[in-house]
Amino acid sequence: MSKKRRIEITIEAERSVILRKKRNNAQAWCAHCDAQVRMLTPEEATLVAGVSLRTINRWVEAGKLHFTETPERLLLICFNSLVSDRRS
Ligand SMILES: [Zn+2]
Repeated sequence: MSKKRRIEITIEAERSVILRKKRNNAQAWCAHCDAQVRMLTPEEATLVAGVSLRTINRWVEAGKLHFTETPERLLLICFNSLVSDRRS
């Protein structure tokens, strides 16, 4: 019985993580672009830019990327700035 309950809790936790990730994919306001843009998590940004998480963090610190922070202190990166950084 207790084992079954634990499995259910795990599934529930995974589902909430997925939902949270989906919400992060939603558009958000970027003050730098002065527009509604797509915001990526740092993990997603590494996939888009093809660089390591360390590089993403370095770009954020250097001001190369636009970013915002959620109330949960989750870093979100402006998709536009990520793409334009690769071009230059
Ligand atoms: Zn931006």
